[in-house]
Amino acid sequence: MRSATASGLSLARPSSLEDVRGVPLAGGTDLVPLLRDGLVEAERLEDVRDLLPRGVEGDRIGAGTTLAELERSEGVPEALREACRLAASPQLRNMGTIGGNLLQATRCWYWRLDYPCFLHGGERCHAREGEHREHAIFANELCASAHPSDPATALLALSAVVETDRRRLALRELYRLPTEGDRSLTTLEDGELILHVAHERPAASTYLKAMDRQRFSFPLVGVAAARFGDDVRLALSGVAPIPWALESADDVGRATPLPGNAYKVDIARALVRRAVDAVRA
Ligand SMILES: Cc1cc2nc3c(=O)[nH]c(=O)nc-3n(C[C@H](O)[C@H](O)[C@H](O)COP(=O)(O)OP(=O)(O)OC[C@H]3O[C@@H](n4cnc5c(N)ncnc54)[C@H](O)[C@@H]3O)c2cc1C
Ligand code: SF4
Repeated sequence: MRSATASGLSLARPSSLEDVRGVPLAGGTDLVPLLRDGLVEAERLEDVRDLLPRGVEGDRIGAGTTLAELERSEGVPEALREACRLAASPQLRNMGTIGGNLLQATRCWYWRLDYPCFLHGGERCHAREGEHREHAIFANELCASAHPSDPATALLALSAVVETDRRRLALRELYRLPTEGDRSLTTLEDGELILHVAHERPAASTYLKAMDRQRFSFPLVGVAAARFGDDVRLALSGVAPIPWALESADDVGRATPLPGNAYKVDIARALVRRAVDAVRA
């Protein structure tokens, strides 16, 4: 193992996954800015890029596979390829891994500016009372952050399973809503590493995304639809603190928008209709 130190933070390159002790660094596209802004504190980073499984084998994807690689993989369901293609920029997709993408932090500007909000352990959600145009329209009572991952939403519709170095769990169980007692948005344990993501194979699937710009923008609303026989599974990004599964298209009507983001309900309804039509065609 080699390590270097800069500003009190050491970077280790462990020779095996068993040796990983600190905060895992994959592409670094989310983690490095969070470290720079003091939103993540770590004494030791563990560069796991060369240790994580990488590539696509049938329906199983190594956690170290980049979004660019997924976008180009012909065997990958269309919803996931499109979700990767519409995420971030080509440079970020070349660096960013699927494992890191599933675990990226919220883009809520209050959280990123380190307001002492509910998700940071404080008393209240500043977005609910303040600027929340891009925030959640479901499950937004305590924290109205909107989950930013496009690929996670596609994988949710594909009923994906996450394989870690400790267990297998459904992707939907990787995420949790924050509570008074526990403010985290994932169920991953300290030091637990995602190694693979495996998905079911649909007859047809698609991912549609509304964003402020045509490129290089987080989802205002993203909709993944995957058809298995007559069953269409639906999931949404940008609408809840976690990737959000719908029981049916009518579930959009259960949204609880805030005064400044009711427009997202209309977008979600329209995109869900289009996505369902596309996978049934
Ligand atoms: C400007 C910008 C625009 C973006 N736009 C979009 C977008 O439109 N849609 C979208 O979906 N994403 C978007 N992203 C997010 C981007 O896709 C993610 O930052 C990237 O995929 C994260 O992957 P990474 O390998 O760089 O993760 P890292 O930054 O290395 O890690 C992220 C987190 O995951 C942890 N981690 C990484 N790998 C593992 C693992 N295998 N097991 C356990 N923990 C792990 C790290 O410790 C860290 O906490 C954007 C990012 C930026 C900066
Ligand atoms: S939406 Fe969540 S992250 Fe943003 S201010 Fe509210 S509690 Fe904090």
